[in-house]
Amino acid sequence: MLNWEDLRHGTAAQRAAYAVLKELGIMDTLGPYHPVLAGTFPLDLNVPGSDLDIICEVHDIQAFRRVLTDTYGHLPGFEVRSATRNGLPTVVCNFTWRGVPVEVFGQPVPTRDSSAFRHMAVEARLLALAGTDAAAEIRRLKAGGLKTEPAFAQYFALPGDPYETLLTLADRPAEELERVVRRARQIRAACPFCQIAMGAEASLVYEDPYTLAFLNLCQANPGHVLVIPKRHVERVCDLDDDLTARLGRTVARVSRAIREALGVSDLNVFQNNGEPAGQEIFHVHFHLLPRRPGDGLFRVYPERLPPHQSRAVLDALADRIRAQM
Ligand SMILES: [Zn+2]
Repeated sequence: MLNWEDLRHGTAAQRAAYAVLKELGIMDTLGPYHPVLAGTFPLDLNVPGSDLDIICEVHDIQAFRRVLTDTYGHLPGFEVRSATRNGLPTVVCNFTWRGVPVEVFGQPVPTRDSSAFRHMAVEARLLALAGTDAAAEIRRLKAGGLKTEPAFAQYFALPGDPYETLLTLADRPAEELERVVRRARQIRAACPFCQIAMGAEASLVYEDPYTLAFLNLCQANPGHVLVIPKRHVERVCDLDDDLTARLGRTVARVSRAIREALGVSDLNVFQNNGEPAGQEIFHVHFHLLPRRPGDGLFRVYPERLPPHQSRAVLDALADRIRAQM
């Protein structure tokens, strides 16, 4: 339900959200700013602590701040701040009413064109195609600590930055969203690492909302661990910055734990992309392979190092890659 007034016919949480909006009179007070309700309540994906996200079209920042301060400045936790987001002047205001956090977000953008509203709209379309199991699983992911858009990206195995990818999908026709839903079903059924992320048997050594580490089935040396993103991403080049950073942190933490637990500080970290590179399971995974002197495993150059390349060749290659950064 993308119209806030429909919440009065919804679940208990949606009806409670509707009551808060009515008691505050906020959709009337902010009427000149064309408010829409975005976020999780319209999708029935709210978890404890979810806020009511009200998006406004604001061209006069100072006047908008005055309205908010005059009307809601006395409420608990009231805070209003100006910032620049995506190059646009932005107002963000927070307060609580009867224990429910409220966030008002204003930018000089028609509210139905705002990222928050478009995210919600495409999420509603995906849920309508994917069914109630999808909503239940996304609610579970959110309860486990994921924000809404990363939770959708994880459930639907979306590549890249979750916020950007969902905005791209928001402009796509139904057939493309159907393809996304079908592909996600196929991946969940076929990918052994997705199944471990969903709770299949594995010898876990670490888990957080985004990443997982478990013992490789084949222990060429004891303590060979795989670190994966819980989201199905095929190759390292499909990872967004946030997930990459989280994976890097898990790799370093697990490396330390292996060192302490097994008394082995020598370790390879390697990660294969594509069949010629030796990738067997097409879900990004980092191998953490403890090494012992003379164990005869894994060498990048099995025979001997090739000679150093000339500086001119190195610089030319570096130029080509740097141009794509
Ligand atoms: Zn997978």
